[in-house]
Amino acid sequence: MTNRRNFLKNASLLSVAGVVAAGSASAATSNVNTNKTFGLQTWSLNRELAADVPGGLRRVAQMGYKTLELAGYSPQGRIGQVPIADFKRMADDAGLSIVSSHVNQPEGGLHLRSNLQAHLDYWKTAADHHASIGCKYIIQPGQPASTRSTQEVAEVCRHYNEIGKVVNAAGIKFGFHNHEGEFQRVVPGGQIPLPFGRFPYGRAPEGARVIMDMMIEETDPSLVVFQLDVYWSVIGQQCPVAYMRKYSDRIKLLHIKDVGVLGESGMMNFQKIFETGYSIGVEQFILELEGVPQQFEGVKLCADYLLNAPFVR
Ligand code: MG
Repeated sequence: MTNRRNFLKNASLLSVAGVVAAGSASAATSNVNTNKTFGLQTWSLNRELAADVPGGLRRVAQMGYKTLELAGYSPQGRIGQVPIADFKRMADDAGLSIVSSHVNQPEGGLHLRSNLQAHLDYWKTAADHHASIGCKYIIQPGQPASTRSTQEVAEVCRHYNEIGKVVNAAGIKFGFHNHEGEFQRVVPGGQIPLPFGRFPYGRAPEGARVIMDMMIEETDPSLVVFQLDVYWSVIGQQCPVAYMRKYSDRIKLLHIKDVGVLGESGMMNFQKIFETGYSIGVEQFILELEGVPQQFEGVKLCADYLLNAPFVR
């Protein structure tokens, strides 16, 4: 019969076993495949990582993440407050590979043609900084401003091609990451984007085009790649699986994102998303988490979801 003393003793043994299982012995003691390759967008830890970057990155690696996509680049060559070379060394020490980085456009807006050369200088600096740490992609995380017409989208596409040339010259690929707004439509001479989704009887206004479709179709495939954020795609009433199939040769990275912790909302079909991603040759599957109060805890729960999901390689 289990008395209180034995119960406490057994409980303490269990907790010791739990500590061991959380470490390197986990693969040997469970069926979880820890050799999967998925990454973390560091924006997911934007409030909690800065206090201890080296220690935080080690925690991320222990959770099962293998790669990083950075956020918080500044043209002074820092990621947040950390010089980019130091950040690279901290990632190396943790066993994490930096594969991508979100780089915001410079202030002023890409629409402003007069600023193009200043913008290109900025992107050259950003590309050189990231080339110095062996990063493969730099990604613009959103549109400079809401594009209102097909002409404005075409202008942005021309800029992206120019940026792509500058970034490619440093041996890096330039890409664009969507939110929901890019699934609105625009018309020639329009003053405001049209709503998401289908129009009655399937009839969109004359000349209407989905902004994201235009971005993909009117940028040079050799200069601009795309990172599909599957969650914002759904919010924009666009099926991410269909979209990956439609533009299978242009989407090289995914943001794996849900309302909060992966799999809890029920609105994302991650099995289909991963299967389709592998089938079209997506190179990077990157977890992004927003909207949770405890970021490290949430990022750990997402890693557990990915490690336990049989469809994640
Ligand atoms: Mg995203």
